[in-house]
Amino acid sequence: MSSIALALHGGAGTIARHLLTPDAEIRYRQALHDALTAGYELLRQGASALDAVEHTVVQLEDCPLFNAGRGAVFTHEGHHEMDASVMVGHTRLAGAVTGVRAIQNPIRAARLVMEKSEHVLLAWPGAEEFARQQGLPMQPPAYFFTEHRYQQLQEALASGQVRLDHSEDAPLEEPKAVDEDPKKKMGTVGAVALDQHGHLAAATSTGGMTNKRYSRVGDSPLIGAGTWADDRTCAISCTGHGEYFIRAVVAHDIACLMEYRGLSLAEACRVVVHDKLAPVGGEGGLVAVDARGHLALPFNSEGMYRASVSSESGLFVGIYKDEQ
Ligand code: ASP
Repeated sequence: MSSIALALHGGAGTIARHLLTPDAEIRYRQALHDALTAGYELLRQGASALDAVEHTVVQLEDCPLFNAGRGAVFTHEGHHEMDASVMVGHTRLAGAVTGVRAIQNPIRAARLVMEKSEHVLLAWPGAEEFARQQGLPMQPPAYFFTEHRYQQLQEALASGQVRLDHSEDAPLEEPKAVDEDPKKKMGTVGAVALDQHGHLAAATSTGGMTNKRYSRVGDSPLIGAGTWADDRTCAISCTGHGEYFIRAVVAHDIACLMEYRGLSLAEACRVVVHDKLAPVGGEGGLVAVDARGHLALPFNSEGMYRASVSSESGLFVGIYKDEQ
């Protein structure tokens, strides 16, 4: 069997040991592990990288711990506007949706845009009309509601700020163990995979930023910024402060450094995440895999929920910076 590989993230940001109770940490690690093994099992059975990343992201969207699908953050108006995108490395076809409110699994809508429409990116409300026509399950607002996300919105409204899910606005006065403290919640999810046929795919899904307004769109549904896949180089799924990732065209830039400058995946990721994004305040990270199955999970934030496995390397689940 040729190499297969899968990596996923559940968001990057201010994630430090003292911010998670042991119980919360166990729940996160279990959720990351379960999503990873579900996707990897598909790859082992010969499924395509596309099927594997979609399945992995659906698991994470269905898990209320993460800011995607069920558990997505609230907008200023108190509803959910979710974004998702997917790209396939051998065809370089892509699909995405933005601002959707009722689609149970936005990543499935992104895939349908790619496969069943002649477009790449559909915005709400048309995106939802299209998804309904395609027969995707819809859910009422109550399905996406989680109490901690709602409290997160109340705090953001009171402070008048638009908040990234993973931002730390003020230093903690005293280190304290908190269980799912809304301000510390990370959550955009994504996955990248290499399948038995040597094909790559990437998928990303998010609720975006708490208290966002004016139909704000982040990097997650933007092909080249939050998501990229090209069999000649790599597959990338990003998480972090979307405005920075858009301006740096992060995912595509990594592929360009590999293609035009011959950098390895690890080196290209380091240049973009640490040399380009970090100095200008672009907090975040990404998961990446190249066509030979090398994996990279770099981030410049305090932590990133992440996991990876390949036929060459064992299963890895990590949250904090010091875990390799
Ligand atoms: N990148 C996402 C956005 O800006 C947020 C995140 O990754 O947490 O919408």
